[in-house]
Amino acid sequence: MTKPEKLMIDGKRLDGRGPNELRPIKFKAGVLKRADGSCYLEFGGNKVMAAVYGPREVHPRHLQNASRAIVRYRYNMAAFSVEERKRPGPDRRSIEISKVSREALESVVLEELYPRSAVDIFVEILQADAGTRVAGINAASVALADAGIPMRCLVSACSVGKIDGEVVLDLNKDEDNYGQADLPVAVNQFGEVTLCQMDGHLTEEEFGKALDMAVDGCKKLHEMQKQALVEKYGTMVAQPAEEE
Ligand code: ADP
Repeated sequence: MTKPEKLMIDGKRLDGRGPNELRPIKFKAGVLKRADGSCYLEFGGNKVMAAVYGPREVHPRHLQNASRAIVRYRYNMAAFSVEERKRPGPDRRSIEISKVSREALESVVLEELYPRSAVDIFVEILQADAGTRVAGINAASVALADAGIPMRCLVSACSVGKIDGEVVLDLNKDEDNYGQADLPVAVNQFGEVTLCQMDGHLTEEEFGKALDMAVDGCKKLHEMQKQALVEKYGTMVAQPAEEE
C-alpha cells in the first residue's frame, strides 16, 4: 500500500478500529504432537506457531548451568511470511528478537527447579503483519504452560504506537510503516514489564499513556491465553498467589 494521506479518520483507524482496540486474536493450545507444548496464534494478520521442548538435557554440555535450567528462544520468519521472499536463516533482527523475547519469558520460568537442563522455545512466523515479536511471546507463553514448565505466571505482550499524532494500541502493518512510533511491551501477571522497546519518538506524556494502554492490552491478552489453556485442560484451579 502506498502511504495513505491519513491513518485516522474521525477517531477511527483505516481498519475500522478505535485507538484502544486490539486486532482479532485467536489462540489454540497444544496443536503439535511431537512438541512438549505448543500454541498456534492468529493475531490480526500474523500467524504464529510456538513449540516448546524440555526441560531436557543441554547440548552442547558446556552450556549447562549447574544451578538452574537455561531458556533458549529461537524466533524465525518463514521465507513466505512476508510479501517479498525473506532470505531464510537468522539475521540481525531475528537474533535481537530472540534475545529480547527470551528475556521477556525467562523471568517467569522457575529455572532453579531444573539444574543442568534446557527449555527450548521455537517461534515460527508463518505470516507477518507487524507485531510479530509480541505475537511470538504470547504464543510462547501459552506453549510453555502447555508443556507443563513451572512458571510464576503467564507473560502477555502487545504493541502500542503513534499514528497521526495519536497514541493507539496494536499497530497493523500500514500503521507500523507510516506511523511515528512503535513500542512493543510485555507484562507478566504481577504487572512487571519484561519487554519494552521503542522505534520512533514519543513525548514523556505520550510514553506514559502508551505504557498504560499497552498494560491494558496485555490484560486482555492474558484472559485470552488463560481461555486457550482452559479450553484444552478444563477449569483452572490455582491462581498465582500475590507476591509478599
Ligand atoms: P515486529 O514484527 O515485532 O513488529 P518489526 O517492527 O521489525 O518487528 O517489523 C515490522 C513488520 O515488518 C513485520 O511484522 C513484518 O510484517 C515486516 N518485516 C520485518 N522483516 C521483514 C523482512 N525481512 N521482509 C519483509 N517484511 C519484513
